[in-house]
Amino acid sequence: MRLLVVEDDRALAGVLKRALTEDGYAVDVERTVAGAELAAAVNDYALIVLDLGLPDGDGADLCRRLRANGHTAHILMLTARDARRDRIGGLDAGADDYVTKPFDFDEFAARVRALLRRPRGARPTVLEAGGITLDPATRSVTRGGVLVPLTTREFSLLRVLMNRVGEVVDKTELLEQVWDAHYDGFSNVVEVHIANLRRKLDLPDNPAPIATVRGAGYRLIG
Ligand code: CA
Repeated sequence: MRLLVVEDDRALAGVLKRALTEDGYAVDVERTVAGAELAAAVNDYALIVLDLGLPDGDGADLCRRLRANGHTAHILMLTARDARRDRIGGLDAGADDYVTKPFDFDEFAARVRALLRRPRGARPTVLEAGGITLDPATRSVTRGGVLVPLTTREFSLLRVLMNRVGEVVDKTELLEQVWDAHYDGFSNVVEVHIANLRRKLDLPDNPAPIATVRGAGYRLIG
């Protein structure tokens, strides 16, 4: 079983990795939200150990995005002692359990085992619209029966539009769901990703079914 540890404290990450490896798991370590997101997009983790305070963002936001993108891995949060609000926020964001720092490693290992005994969330539904099939479980997209390779952001963007087929989704909402609420990068990031998505989904006789609704947003035509 493959596990991901998301923790920016190198010493603690090292100890967690050693302890989990000794228990027989394959363990990857990431120190940032961005790194974790990328790792979770390409690997099927059974469990993610997630620190809430990360250098480039908030672990709870990451947790929410992973869940929104259909990740069903068990998520075990690491929170500071007495940070009641953090624990509640993390659980509301879709975490399964938490341990408070500093923690006892035997207890930590026991919680990991307990979570791994639970069944994972139900396999998310395959979405179909406009000749596109999107399978959140395998993170694969086909159009006209042909596999379309997408980046993580393109996949998330398409997923939001497919979940809301026929509706106009505005740019702000896409930014919030696919990037994060505090994204302050270049302002035409959505346009650029939509353009790439269209190019990849275009078929010679059948253009990508993503309409621009001027001044309002984008709509996937089912
Ligand atoms: Ca931290």
